Amino acid sequence: MARWRAYHTPATVSEALSLLHEHRDKARIIAGGTDLILDMEANQAAAPEALVDVTRITGIDRIAQEDDWIVLGAGITHTQIESSPLLRAHARCLTESCGVIGGPQVRNVATLGGNVAHALPAADGTIGLLALEAEVEVAAHSARGARHTWQPLLSIFAGPGRNRLAPDQMLHAFRFRPTQARAGNAFDRIMRPQGVALPVLGIAARVRLDAALRRVEDAVIAIGPAGPTPFRATSAEEALTSAKAFDAAAVEDAIAAAQAQASLRSSKYRASQAYRHEMIGVLLRRVLHTSVERARMNEAPAGPAGA
Ligand SMILES: Cc1cc2nc3c(=O)[nH]c(=O)nc-3n(C[C@H](O)[C@H](O)[C@H](O)COP(=O)(O)OP(=O)(O)OC[C@H]3O[C@@H](n4cnc5c(N)ncnc54)[C@H](O)[C@@H]3O)c2cc1C
Repeated sequence: MARWRAYHTPATVSEALSLLHEHRDKARIIAGGTDLILDMEANQAAAPEALVDVTRITGIDRIAQEDDWIVLGAGITHTQIESSPLLRAHARCLTESCGVIGGPQVRNVATLGGNVAHALPAADGTIGLLALEAEVEVAAHSARGARHTWQPLLSIFAGPGRNRLAPDQMLHAFRFRPTQARAGNAFDRIMRPQGVALPVLGIAARVRLDAALRRVEDAVIAIGPAGPTPFRATSAEEALTSAKAFDAAAVEDAIAAAQAQASLRSSKYRASQAYRHEMIGVLLRRVLHTSVERARMNEAPAGPAGA
């Protein structure tokens, strides 16, 4: 039995949004299909009338440096992210997080837009983007064509597996600032060796050091899963930036603050709450040291690199 009646491949955002608008809530966007097809298998009662494939839209897989932003189309695959020199220079936490998603077959088709829109708090690409303080471009149907708005990444999450997009809206792109001088970022995760598609815990961090390369002036820490939506450990960020130096005591304070603020839970197939609590210490220690090491090696801003 067919799982859908129509499969559309629009070439523009306006065309995609018009199709979504016409079908109301009876159509679904599909990109790589690595989450959607499994969801449809699990919930056959809610089979969509039509699928709108957004991967043929012109420019949806772009990676570009535009003015003071690095811009990524929502249809970019994890393989494209992992192999981009521009992103390796400016967004190691993203190349590292997308580079461990699934296996090569999954990464060749699965997209960053799908990873974010699926709205799981532990999604690796999402955690990498969050540490970059990324913004997301939402495209909405309107009678006069597509309406585009940039908004903070966190604003689109409603809860586990639920985003705030209307049926005739889609994610079009992401953007974040290039890495500045004395700044560095990193991602690491703990994953069960087989059987599940999400990590036990993943953490991404981004820091900027002071001119003496001793103190953390600015920090962003993203942890997943540590709540119903992707989580920013603001107390840990504050602990780091208020310390007089980046040293063992500052790191331990940041870990304690992250552990106190995170809402961890036990999950049947992945890990207990107590194990995740301990792993915040292990991963945060690692990503902070790596980020600071990279910041110290990056005294001048990362230069332009090919996409
Ligand atoms: C074997 C396997 C291993 C995996 N391992 C990992 C892992 O280690 N880490 C991890 O984070 N994930 C993992 N995943 C999950 C999945 O591969 C990723 O979340 C992937 O990035 C989803 O992208 P996609 O393009 O396949 O999305 P799709 O399945 O096409 O779509 C997912 C959802 O997003 C919506 N959507 C897609 N694009 C857009 C858009 N532009 N605008 C609005 N809505 C959109 C769809 O309607 C759907 O609801 C794994 C999956 C599999 C099958």
